[in-house]
Amino acid sequence: MSKYNVLLPKTAFSMKANLREKEPLIQKKWKKADIYEQILLNNSGKKPFVLHDGPPYANGHIHIGHALNKILKDIIVKYKNISGFAAPFVPGWDCHGLPIEYQLFKELNITKSDISQIDFRKKAAEFAKKFLKIQLSEFMRLGIFADWKKPYLTINKNYEAGILETFAALVEKGFVYRGAKPVYWCCSCETALAEAEVEYHDIPSPSITVLFKSEDLENTYAAVWTTTPWTLPANAALAFNKDFLYSVIEMDIKGYQTRILVLDAKKEEIRDKVHAKDFRIISQNKGSRFAGMKFRHPFLNQPAVGICADFVESGEGTGIVHIAPGHGEDDYRAGLKYNLPVISPVDERGLFTKEAGEFRGQFVFDANEKIINIMREKGALLESEEITHSYPHCWRCKKPVIFRATPQWFISVDKDNLRGKLLEEIKRVEWTPPEGENRISAMVENRPDWCISRQRYWGVPIPVFYCANCGEHLLDAKIIRKLGALVRAEGSDILLKENLPVDMICRKCGGKKFSLENDILDVWFDSGASHHILEERAGHRFPADLYLEGSDQHRGWFQSSLILSCATKGPAPYKNVVTHGFVVDGAGRKMSKSQGNVITPQEIIDKSGADILRIWTASQNYAGDLRLSNEILKSCTDYYRKIRNTFRFMLGNLHGWSIKNETPKAQMTALDLYILARMEAVKKEVTANYENYHISEAFHCLFDFINLDLSSFYLDIIKDRLYTLGAYWPDRRSSQSALWELLKNLTLLFAPVISHTCEEVLQTAKEEIDGTLPESVFLMEIPEEKFFIPENKAGQWIRLLKIRESVLKAIEDARANGKIGNALEAGASITGDRENTLSYFSESALKEIFLISQLGEAAGKEILAEREENGVLVKIYRAEGTKCGRCWRITQNNSDGICERCAKAEADTAASAAANEPVPNTSDILEK
Ligand SMILES: [Zn+2]
Ligand SMILES: [Zn+2]
Ligand SMILES: [Zn+2]
Repeated sequence: MSKYNVLLPKTAFSMKANLREKEPLIQKKWKKADIYEQILLNNSGKKPFVLHDGPPYANGHIHIGHALNKILKDIIVKYKNISGFAAPFVPGWDCHGLPIEYQLFKELNITKSDISQIDFRKKAAEFAKKFLKIQLSEFMRLGIFADWKKPYLTINKNYEAGILETFAALVEKGFVYRGAKPVYWCCSCETALAEAEVEYHDIPSPSITVLFKSEDLENTYAAVWTTTPWTLPANAALAFNKDFLYSVIEMDIKGYQTRILVLDAKKEEIRDKVHAKDFRIISQNKGSRFAGMKFRHPFLNQPAVGICADFVESGEGTGIVHIAPGHGEDDYRAGLKYNLPVISPVDERGLFTKEAGEFRGQFVFDANEKIINIMREKGALLESEEITHSYPHCWRCKKPVIFRATPQWFISVDKDNLRGKLLEEIKRVEWTPPEGENRISAMVENRPDWCISRQRYWGVPIPVFYCANCGEHLLDAKIIRKLGALVRAEGSDILLKENLPVDMICRKCGGKKFSLENDILDVWFDSGASHHILEERAGHRFPADLYLEGSDQHRGWFQSSLILSCATKGPAPYKNVVTHGFVVDGAGRKMSKSQGNVITPQEIIDKSGADILRIWTASQNYAGDLRLSNEILKSCTDYYRKIRNTFRFMLGNLHGWSIKNETPKAQMTALDLYILARMEAVKKEVTANYENYHISEAFHCLFDFINLDLSSFYLDIIKDRLYTLGAYWPDRRSSQSALWELLKNLTLLFAPVISHTCEEVLQTAKEEIDGTLPESVFLMEIPEEKFFIPENKAGQWIRLLKIRESVLKAIEDARANGKIGNALEAGASITGDRENTLSYFSESALKEIFLISQLGEAAGKEILAEREENGVLVKIYRAEGTKCGRCWRITQNNSDGICERCAKAEADTAASAAANEPVPNTSDILEK
């Protein structure tokens, strides 16, 4: 080709991405230009859109889940900022709490008793700050735009003051109370835990059926099922379902005639379990009959009373439930109703106290075996086996937790019908995916009051005081507000000091000396109060437009935020909630160190670059779990390469073109107008998907456009125009003008995902094509819709592309048979076109679109391939004439080895270069 003056693409935008080295340089430029502030400045006055960041714990390096979450947020915020909104993004960190405390104690290799609270808090603050700095730079390396200079931290003085103000508002409205209810308790961390702090794992447990002798029915034993034998010393009652039918059956167990009371539906099951031959029904009654009856404890000298409870189910067990109000939520509620004693003879380490008599000093789980043995000796054990079931574990130390009743602080969810309000608000929020709504509703419907006190060091002290004289507690919103002002100036450590400059008087004894509550606030209270940020930060508003977190936050942050917002302000703190699944390996298994299948964001960045990780994030459907493996990453690299090469093609072929060469819309060729109209349709779909947070649909829609419409169709066709027409010829200029539109639109549409690459594209375009472009792609807006084709023309194009498919297939057949080499050696006859589609296009345009040299009658020619489909009959023959050495088309008028058109193009390009101005021409490609 070099012999001729062919116009080959030229650009500094390299084929090789080299993201590893390039991305940090681009990020440096963003940082230097203060890109985040520039964007907000640029968008000031536009409609606000606030995505409120859920704060991760500052206790380690970021993992792939963090990267996924922040990239999804970044894609949405960036999209909003280039589509007519002002979208600030303030990142947050959760700096208090058990996750940090647990890890720091492990690192220091000491326990709570080895260090004072104040000393520990200093170390914990340093620890949190160290990791938030690490995470901050790791998030920046992902290309996330945010207010990195001023993140919100739950240990900031202002933030802590906000926590106290929220607490004061709750106190004022009467939501806070002290109670001795059973709560989740970790015996290893020695603290109460909230719902959100336990996770479920399968473990083996004893499953036993115990006999409680009836004191009302002759020689009869109630069969009671339990999987926690250690709670039997705390038994207070047996619960029946009032509507179920129960039977007393008599059977022979090991030679003894024994009468057993059991759910009627379970009588055969019991018979089989004890290997009895058969049974005889003595009597039958509804569960309500047993309310008030007395039973004897199987090994202690204490009574168990019969009660009725709706939570008694017929699925598992015997239909008779052992009730220990000190060790279970349902049990506790039933206990309240029947005025049962709350027995919880277990200390903070999980050891039985002296109230448990002979079990004193034993760890509860270890006591199971002893209790089973005692009952076996007493003949009170009907049967026992081991089962594996899902059991709550501590989220930090991963040990099984227990229910334990101790005095704790609670937020009532039923005061003033708060629960009803929460459910109302949930309905008003838009949940994506929609299943989220039922999930959180069910949780809120059934949740107990929120236990907010923790027996730990690292958090905001609960601002409650005890009278030194009489022990009465002082819970006063006015005092808490005063303390809030103090904390705003000094930080929450001030609360731990004695002689606070706040007047306190005991309402009971008039005493003036007080000591602070030892407990701290649940860390979920800290983050749940974060919506006060929405009122304090510039450009923000309450409620936020969007919360976006992992789907586990229905139980965590979405709920704690909802409760605190609805209780203190009324509305939910968010209008939309989007949740994503978890990252699993290529086979769908959980990632874990022990499995060796963990992939970290750092590894991906070091190997491929942040834009590849961003493509992975955008290409996956985040509604469910997201698979990640090296193979999947390889496919992301393939996506990337295709996108990069397309941008490179566009930039390269815009060489020698500038804005002043732009072809007015009215003078563009039909093919160019068609592809631009296609682009507008794609843009509509992509932006609608971005709007609805359907990011993977947006990405794939864009990618398909690049891959199918551009790469396999449009760009393939216009290569001939771009390379071989005269530099200034209208058809070439028309296509270049189309490339410019495509480039601008695609750069912006892809920018939220592959931000670094799109910035590189824009900077290259600024250098090579249009110096007036802004400093960053993120200071632009997605162009308005400009191109469209009327419906009837669109229909012609759809039919033409169908015919094109058939022509290309027929040519492929001819090539496969070895009849022709290049498609340009082919001619085609197309007949049977009933819709007359072809008549709307000029012959030269059709030849161009079909990538052939000749079109017309096949009569008298050797047919090389034939296809009848899509409503036409296509016949392929060898084009007659001579091959042009410059454009490879076969034409009749060839001289000196090149065709007439090429000769003219060569001359015009040379003349225009000499004259430095366009040479007018008539091209042979202009469509009708
Ligand atoms: Zn624990
Ligand atoms: Zn007092
Ligand atoms: Zn030619």
